[in-house]
Amino acid sequence: NYRCRSAFKLLEIDDKHKVLRPGLSVIDCGAAPGAWSQVAVQRVNALGTDPNAPVGFVLGVDLLHISPLEGAVFLPNADITDPVTLKKIQELLPTERADVILSDMAPNATGIRELDHQKLINLCLTLLDLSQSILRPRGTILCKFWDGREAHLLQNRLMEHFQDVRTIKPQSSRKESAEIYYLAKLYNDGMKHQKH
Ligand code: SAM
Repeated sequence: NYRCRSAFKLLEIDDKHKVLRPGLSVIDCGAAPGAWSQVAVQRVNALGTDPNAPVGFVLGVDLLHISPLEGAVFLPNADITDPVTLKKIQELLPTERADVILSDMAPNATGIRELDHQKLINLCLTLLDLSQSILRPRGTILCKFWDGREAHLLQNRLMEHFQDVRTIKPQSSRKESAEIYYLAKLYNDGMKHQKH
């Protein structure tokens, strides 16, 4: 049993697009109450449940408190946009960089659709900046956004840094909701700048 229905969105996306597998190291941004982390713990084999597969790692970060979850490390009461949080993430990661960054983050909605959209796009852009220090080359980002006029800014930035960028609308996302995900694979930061 999952802590939240949002688990089914990640399960659906992962079944189709193969984001998680045993042995990977994952940062789950906006992790509270912890359903995506539950899915990630299973799929990366963070508990070593499958003795024949490599053991992965899951770090969940959120502004809010998150109840402990076996197999996951949590960084609660932490704002992803705060530089102190970045340092803490780097300390907690067992490897220098993560293979996958998941973001189901959502700012408190004001109800003004355009404003909420902009806030979430800005949050995703900040996360993309952080990737430079915490995502390994060829790594993956899955991030939620609310659709609107500035989505293309985020998409363009992702396309500058990742070789494969897709737009995903999970079935399990309610039809009327404006939420969409970008799945960006094959992070190539650094490589682009070396080409002339
Ligand atoms: N994926 C989660 C799950 O399956 O349990 C649900 C995530 S919920 C939709 C969005 C979360 O993003 C909230 O818990 C919120 O506190 C968090 N959040 C929003 N802005 C954040 C920020 N700047 N830093 C960290 N977390 C943030």
